[in-house]
Amino acid sequence: MVNSPVNILDLNKEGIRAFLDSFDHVFSDCDGVIWHNTPLAGSGEFFDLMKKHGKTVHYVSNNSIRSKENYDAKFKAAGINDGYENLTVPSVAIAEYLKSVNFNKKIYCITNSQTIKTLESYGFSCKSGPDVGADFYSDYVQYLEDDEEIGAVVFDSDFKVNLPKIYKAISYLARPDVYFINGASDKHVVLKPGHLSLATGVFTELVIEETKRIPIQIGKPGKIFGEFAMKRAGLSDPSRILFIGDMIEQDVGLGKQTGFKTLLVLTSLTKEDMLNHETIKPDYYAKSLGSIVPLLKF
Ligand SMILES: [Mg+2]
Repeated sequence: MVNSPVNILDLNKEGIRAFLDSFDHVFSDCDGVIWHNTPLAGSGEFFDLMKKHGKTVHYVSNNSIRSKENYDAKFKAAGINDGYENLTVPSVAIAEYLKSVNFNKKIYCITNSQTIKTLESYGFSCKSGPDVGADFYSDYVQYLEDDEEIGAVVFDSDFKVNLPKIYKAISYLARPDVYFINGASDKHVVLKPGHLSLATGVFTELVIEETKRIPIQIGKPGKIFGEFAMKRAGLSDPSRILFIGDMIEQDVGLGKQTGFKTLLVLTSLTKEDMLNHETIKPDYYAKSLGSIVPLLKF
């Protein structure tokens, strides 16, 4: 039995106090919650008020594509000064995971270039590509060759994903000891308001289907990723964390897997989208972070 999500904007003063008393820490998604292309009004003030009410604030995004400079600029534009140092993204979690298992082979990356940079900054050596394949199927046989140096295949938002890369991933993953790791698994993204577009996660699905292997999910909604974010924040009790996001599968899904309380902001999806989801429901919802701001001023 799934409880109906509570609209925070319907709570009276007592209800808001009870809501605030139900958690000590806030973990927030970034894209679609704090900004779309530009900052969403009131987001920075929302986090300031959360801190004023004694909460710690951390950010947990599936977006490993942005550089530190880009994240710094986005946070700053939203009025948040300590965003990047409190941010967890899949590329860092994947690197830490591989370190924890003493991984010492090469990584085949179907990822964006920033994720490769992050993995290399941990001392791992990466292979990737080709970004452009041959013109004829007859030449594709070259992409079916195994490469014994590869010990892990990592997927994470590669906008240049193509058939040669997928062939290579499938060939390497035929060896059961090769790690299959997935960062951002998003199958949809919001590229224009009110419209969901396909995202790179659909390509990992092809490999899952073809290899009959399940990747280690080190991005939302994977529990490993939720627990990694907690560890980074120095926290151990998921029930005292409120996770805020704009996507049901990724954000509320992560909250459910890890044991967080969840708040869905309807900045990307409608209330109907939320209610129509068959298995995942947030505990709370609100129009946006900015819409909650007036209720927190006491
Ligand atoms: Mg989002």
